[in-house]
Amino acid sequence: MPQHYILLFCILTAAIVIGGDLDHEREERLTSSVAPTLRQWVSVLVDCPGVEEAYTYGVPAGWTVAAGDIVEVPFGRQQLRGIILQVLSDLPEAVAAEQVRPLMAVVGTSFLPVGYWGLLEQVAAYYCTPLIQVVRTALPPGVLGRSQRRLRLRTSAIPPLSAGAQQVLRLLQRSATGDYSLRYVAQHVPRSQRGIAELVRLGVVEVYWAAPPQAQAQWQQAVVLLRCDGADLSDRQRQILDYLRQQPQECWLQDLLQATGSSPATIQRLAARGYVAIVERQRCRLDQGIAVPADQPQGLTLAQQSALAAILASLGRAQEFLLHGVTGSGKTEVYLQAIAACLEQGRSALLLVPEIGLTPQLADRVRARFGDRVVVYHSGLSDGERYDTWRLTLLAEPRVVVGTRSAMLLPLAGLGLIVLDEEHDSGYKQDQPQPCYHARTVARWRSQQDQCPLILGSATPALSTWQGAQAGHITYLSLPQRIHAVPLPPITIVDMREELRRGNRTMFSRLLQNALERLPQQQAQAILFIQRRGHSTFVSCRSCGSAIDCPHCSVSLTVHLHDEYTQVLRCHYCNYSQGVPQRCPVCGSPYLKPFGSGTQRVVAELNRLFPDLRVLRFDSDTTQRKGAHRQLLEAFAAGKADVMVGTQMLTKGIDLPHVAVVGILAADGLLHLPDYQAAERTFQILTQVAGRSGRGHLPGQVILQTYVPNHPVIGAVKAYAWQEFAQQELASREPLGYPPHRQLILLRLSSKDGDRVAATAAMVAEQLAALPPMQTGDWQVLGPAPAAIAKIAERYRWQILLKGRFGTLASLSPHLLTLKEQCPREVRLSIDVDPLNFL
Ligand code: ADP
Ligand code: ZN
Ligand code: ZN
Repeated sequence: MPQHYILLFCILTAAIVIGGDLDHEREERLTSSVAPTLRQWVSVLVDCPGVEEAYTYGVPAGWTVAAGDIVEVPFGRQQLRGIILQVLSDLPEAVAAEQVRPLMAVVGTSFLPVGYWGLLEQVAAYYCTPLIQVVRTALPPGVLGRSQRRLRLRTSAIPPLSAGAQQVLRLLQRSATGDYSLRYVAQHVPRSQRGIAELVRLGVVEVYWAAPPQAQAQWQQAVVLLRCDGADLSDRQRQILDYLRQQPQECWLQDLLQATGSSPATIQRLAARGYVAIVERQRCRLDQGIAVPADQPQGLTLAQQSALAAILASLGRAQEFLLHGVTGSGKTEVYLQAIAACLEQGRSALLLVPEIGLTPQLADRVRARFGDRVVVYHSGLSDGERYDTWRLTLLAEPRVVVGTRSAMLLPLAGLGLIVLDEEHDSGYKQDQPQPCYHARTVARWRSQQDQCPLILGSATPALSTWQGAQAGHITYLSLPQRIHAVPLPPITIVDMREELRRGNRTMFSRLLQNALERLPQQQAQAILFIQRRGHSTFVSCRSCGSAIDCPHCSVSLTVHLHDEYTQVLRCHYCNYSQGVPQRCPVCGSPYLKPFGSGTQRVVAELNRLFPDLRVLRFDSDTTQRKGAHRQLLEAFAAGKADVMVGTQMLTKGIDLPHVAVVGILAADGLLHLPDYQAAERTFQILTQVAGRSGRGHLPGQVILQTYVPNHPVIGAVKAYAWQEFAQQELASREPLGYPPHRQLILLRLSSKDGDRVAATAAMVAEQLAALPPMQTGDWQVLGPAPAAIAKIAERYRWQILLKGRFGTLASLSPHLLTLKEQCPREVRLSIDVDPLNFL
């Protein structure tokens, strides 16, 4: 937009903001110069809490605007900032021309990298989510709010002024730059509005917009050691000085207080006596983690060399790799060396992990290699940290961003490499709210757009990735051995039915009990794994291990309370239901029971049977505090406990060299989750848990307890037979049309009104069934059915599953987008494309 337009508009804006008495004049200018010339419209995401929809505004003639520009718009009686979502050449039908107001100013243009907006549009279209919601997810809070309205002097020729105008003028003249924010002026001159309006009208001052500032540094106090000798020191003071002496550099005051447990007054006394100085230092609000010593690239094994060579040859092109190797096979070393090459070419790299709290060690390793070129981005950051990191990634300087799935939506300029570590992990998928995006899917789009390679790393790839590698869309790279050829720990299967028969009614098999008893004399540690707490939802037979499955969907039936007294078993894919049988339909045993036991029960039982063992609990209860994961893992690594009992979270995390025994208490809980991916998940999790043992000098041992020792998944895990398992699982999904053979979409409906949500689900399913893509047979409707967890937080939950041919989603998604409007207000509908979570 030409400069003078901005000026005109800023003045206009100022007039509107400032004086009610200028309304008349504004009216005139608007009608004379702007209103009749609206030829173009924009939809704007207005930065106002609670505003869910986009609003339409007119673009004054001669202005050039683009999606992604930050603008100023009238909103009711307020002026608000917003971001342009879309430029429209026609006025939307629902909007009346007279109601459309023009944009007031463009505050910031083209600050997003080329192609970034297209990426957000792609996410919106594929995941059937309004663009406005995608934009809200991608932009950190406060991006729109940061630009500032300021006032500055334009001339030194001052005409006669009213007293109020003179006051404002004098204030501005006192500023070295002749410039203040409007807010500052308002604070210092009472009723400044009239004075400002007068000055603007006379051309003495102008109102302008300052673009959002760069990452704002924070100032913080640091302590510098000046001398540490002195006879007049107390023990406490000496301790503080000693601590400071051991630090490589000066220390933040806050950290010092925490580390030494001293009070600010003590430090101030030391400062007063010349031992230390307290200084102000800038601190950029980035999550820098703890300091780590620098480290050097390793000489690579042959397998690592050939994997790296393939990746390096693809820099500058969109190519996708599967880097397949067990834990400890040296995948991370390959990522790090590929990232180094990418940085050398002046491009940035994105390294994604499923959950940052669970993998502190990886972030540390990246920092050790690349120092302050590393930035960390995840949803656990404070708003300020997120904002600063986000701004930083807009700069062209090459960086390594380590982050969780939300980092996939960063507007990173000059992206040269994307890595997804543990690519099979469901943490990469957002369940709610919409957009329910998968970081891997978005990574593929980005790799195409930015012409850069994408590395998917895993010991147990997702079956869809595996299929891609088999079909040749994905280049397969393998690291077949652990570094130094450390063997994988042998896995022993224990038949818990047999234990029951022999009268062992505890949850620990005799083999596991023996192993636990021997821990102290071996100076070793053990990890006991149980399936994530709180899902005692399926029924299984303790005598033969059978679980009861849906005859149509081959997923486990889940227990629902029909009324206060009666339980029913129900399939939450297709809604088939039956009563709970008295006896096992396979073997007739009466030991047919809901399954599951929590971490707390296991700890209690351990304490009873082995009072001498020190036990730590590691689950979502004990790791809620920030940094608790790391603390617990470090305490355990330091030998502060003999046994750690935990859930899924134990599968990742830091190296634990003293763990010799891994006990898997009940593998069945995973196998019988009401989910078509149960076998795949089980294989992945059990293999990862097994990999926790035998990483140091002690030989590892894995004891896997189950009621179904002959289950093919259990056999495959025992043999570390990934390929055979994948082959078989892919084949078994084919007849039922589960992914990756066909595509799924899950519609979740919820409401506090149980009848209402059931009726709405039925209505929606009926409408869906009538759509053309269903008529042609490309897509199919399953359900509606109550969700496996039928009620959460007083809301009743139902779901509808859609199954369809890959590549035909575009024929269906426009219909899905309109479904929401047909639901009553009290029923929430969310659309999950490629769902992973069915509970
Ligand atoms: P993964 O990511 O597959 O679990 P890592 O890259 O973490 O494997 O490697 C496992 C361990 O082996 C790490 O301690 C790493 O420093 C070390 N390592 C990796 N590559 C080599 C190598 N070529 N030579 C020696 N040690 C290596
Ligand atoms: Zn049975
Ligand atoms: Zn079913």
